[in-house]
Amino acid sequence: MCYQVVERYAACRCLYYKHGIDRCAGYGQAGHVVQEKTVLVGYACSMHSSHRAETASMSGHGILPDSGYSSGYA
Ligand SMILES: [Zn+2]
Ligand SMILES: [Zn+2]
Repeated sequence: MCYQVVERYAACRCLYYKHGIDRCAGYGQAGHVVQEKTVLVGYACSMHSSHRAETASMSGHGILPDSGYSSGYA
């Protein structure tokens, strides 16, 4: 089984770095799959770390302030 190490930001799961595939003898055969090994790095990417992620909990990610957004739409 081949392995490919993929590093992701732990806070937002964005891609940090994709390593090369560590090939085995069966690389390229039909039905052969490359096992991804996800390694998390302990912070958020530049896009998601603009507001300090140190104190923010993980559950807060992806939640946009929608107050006032729907008003005035209709
Ligand atoms: Zn393999
Ligand atoms: Zn991110």
